[in-house]
Amino acid sequence: MERESLLGANLADLERKFARIGLTKLDAKRVLPWIHIKCVSSFDAMTDVPHKVRSLLSEYFSLERPICRNLQKSSDGTRKALLEFPDGHQIETVFIPDEKRNTVCLSIQVGCAMGCKFCNTGQRSFERNLSCAEIMSQVFFWKDLLPTLKELAHPHLSNLVFMGMGEPLLNAENLFQALELLLDQKNHNFSRNKITVSTSGIVTHDLLRMAKFGIKLAISLHATTDIKRSELMPVNRKYNIDTLLNAAREYLRRSNSEHVTFEYLLLAGVNDSDANARQLAKLLSGIRCKVNLITFNSWDESTFRGSSRTRADAFLSLLLAKGIRTIIRKSRGDDISAACGQLKGTGERSGSDLS
Ligand code: SAH
Ligand code: SF4
Repeated sequence: MERESLLGANLADLERKFARIGLTKLDAKRVLPWIHIKCVSSFDAMTDVPHKVRSLLSEYFSLERPICRNLQKSSDGTRKALLEFPDGHQIETVFIPDEKRNTVCLSIQVGCAMGCKFCNTGQRSFERNLSCAEIMSQVFFWKDLLPTLKELAHPHLSNLVFMGMGEPLLNAENLFQALELLLDQKNHNFSRNKITVSTSGIVTHDLLRMAKFGIKLAISLHATTDIKRSELMPVNRKYNIDTLLNAAREYLRRSNSEHVTFEYLLLAGVNDSDANARQLAKLLSGIRCKVNLITFNSWDESTFRGSSRTRADAFLSLLLAKGIRTIIRKSRGDDISAACGQLKGTGERSGSDLS
């Protein structure tokens, strides 16, 4: 019998699962902090849990982490892990340290169905959603590893970004369950303004349901007209720019978050002209927002080229002149293909195997 993972369980889940094997609510209450605060990976480590309970737990449940098939370290300290689940599917997750914060980038699906033209993940087929336990297992993986990373300025995870493989809002139930655990003060206790979910623009009720968590929303915009955006991102044929921007306004009203971030990938000759910058400023005027201009991370078969530094600076200046808070986002982990849009989870064992 395959043992059920408890990595995604909250108190109510534990109580329900435990009742099935004759354990009590008190047992559930004792076990929960061992899973989410002390982050132990074996029931034997739960010293205040009676021995009989522990052996029953080991029989039915598991706290196992996914197998790490490859761990690469970039020259800038970024690390990328290729994790494999028991069914053989693989995903990637990235750890990005800097002086002020340690950020983890999480995957939400195996593959992605959205097919954005500039994205490496989008070129492979969608396999399946990750369960809440599998989403959480990426956080546990990095938490386990932290004590061994001696060079870190702070040995804690502070920020989480859902910007790995997949479209978060197409796996909303598992995403929301994970967010509850991550934000719960009695569990992982991340602050709501240190968690960002990035969407390609799925405007369903789930987007507004997410507002109740008060976390930060990032929207991958990448174009200023519906024609261009639909070419780059097929999702735009279903939810156009107007619909998306109205949803952003509504998210701000409901979530109380300070701003929405718009991600805008600068592609040479595609969306990076002065006219595009002016159109972008016009579209965003009146929305409490920030713009992250992203430099294109190329991958083997891609036909796009990133904008030159001069072009990117000109685009930036035009937005700033129109009063839009804008930065050019620094790319991290480029040399190990850990940067946005480069994740693929192919399982190839390339690069150096460092921790
Ligand atoms: N699927 C979600 C979140 C993951 S992608 C989304 O699309 O928003 C995270 C960010 O990387 C998105 O803004 C995405 O558009 C961007 N991205 C995709 N491919 C890229 C590439 N080749 N270079 C740079 N950024 C890319
Ligand atoms: Fe999927 Fe995001 Fe890549 Fe588009 S950019 S294919 S939504 S992961």
